[in-house]
Amino acid sequence: MSFFAYRNGEMHAEGVALASVAAQVGTPFYCYSAGALRAAWKEFADGIKGMNAPHKVGVCYAMKANSSLAVIRLFGELGAGADIVSVGEMRRALAAGIPAANIVYSGVGKKASELMEALQAGVGQINVESSAEIETLNAVAGQVGAKAVVTIRVNPDVDAGTHAKITTGRKENKFGIDIDLAREAFALAGRQPNLRVAGVAMHIGSQLTSLEPYRAAIVRVRELIGQLRTDGHHIDRFDLGGGLGIVYSDEKLPSIADFMAVVARETKGLGCELTFEPGRRLVGEAGVLVGEVILVKPGSAKTFIIVDAAMNDLIRPTLYEAWHDILPVHQPRPDAATIRCDIVGPICESGDFLAQNRDMAPLAAGDLVMIRSAGAYGAVMASSYNSRPLAPEVMVDGTRFAVTRPRPTVDEMLQAERFPPWMEPVKA
Ligand SMILES: *Cc1c(COP(=O)(O)O)cnc(C)c1O
Repeated sequence: MSFFAYRNGEMHAEGVALASVAAQVGTPFYCYSAGALRAAWKEFADGIKGMNAPHKVGVCYAMKANSSLAVIRLFGELGAGADIVSVGEMRRALAAGIPAANIVYSGVGKKASELMEALQAGVGQINVESSAEIETLNAVAGQVGAKAVVTIRVNPDVDAGTHAKITTGRKENKFGIDIDLAREAFALAGRQPNLRVAGVAMHIGSQLTSLEPYRAAIVRVRELIGQLRTDGHHIDRFDLGGGLGIVYSDEKLPSIADFMAVVARETKGLGCELTFEPGRRLVGEAGVLVGEVILVKPGSAKTFIIVDAAMNDLIRPTLYEAWHDILPVHQPRPDAATIRCDIVGPICESGDFLAQNRDMAPLAAGDLVMIRSAGAYGAVMASSYNSRPLAPEVMVDGTRFAVTRPRPTVDEMLQAERFPPWMEPVKA
């Protein structure tokens, strides 16, 4: 079922016309479908059902994909934990009702102050990624009188077959400890009095459209776990990370059931509790960005459709060369001729585009467009470049909708700043 679809010629999010949201909150705005979020969660919940015995299987939502409090709360109510990458995210997860014990703290460069706050809050697991971090965490845990439960993230050196900026499991990426050096790291961790080394973590990349890299990585980690046990470590957790892809245009994706079947097969008899950390797959297709056409500028090479949503709202097209389907909110006639155009924002950067060389039914000033699959790495990566206020976020559930993050006013943006005391006050 599609949660974003035309009804009577108008694009709807579930039972709510996007045009009616635009009329109330203005454009651009992000819109998330609660139904789509629940449906994405259900695939994971169903997938792990069969895997539960004899070891626990958990899903920690990787909230960096979309850290809207309402979105985290929705998943938390369904039983998700959270995968965080900063103390700011920890505070969000706690504010959204995720118990500290269900939080996994990931990240390649955690500061001692952040580790301390995490231990004091009682986060359930810290995934460490370097020898330096092992020693820092041990020292911090000693200071707060805690025993830190850690997994060590290893870099299995597999090619996830995804965009260079979102592959994380190759030797040349900064993430994890080189799998060939992992035994030394575990030995170091094992000697620290304030750490309990519980297992191994991996996360090989994002927007994976094939299961083979996962399989290859699991095989390598499985071998490592055997060696670690021989070395005398008690390994009972395996954190498999996230990375499952979504549909941006016409990708053919493995189902969650297929993914879980591969994991179940490759981890059979391993005796480890499993954790999954999906981000994009839970939220990406459940969100859209809606903008309004400001003007249409014909050129000799192509036509520019200038909209009020821009790279500061959605940076993926320019950062990752990502494709997002763009649909008019008012359904075009099926026989409408298309024109070749670039759909761009008003920002003073040539990299400010949402789509290039796209064939679109003709659009005019005032028309609304919907940028599809914008629920992940969209609003969270937004900035206020060009002093453009952050786009508001809206959640739809059935026929209701609510603004979950209002658009800041420019006055609010200005009030957040200070003049140095030595400057003359601005005369009114
Ligand atoms: C980003 C990240 C995830 C989530 O990745 P997705 O591709 O959004 O599923 C999971 N685990 C870690 C450690 C991450 O850094």
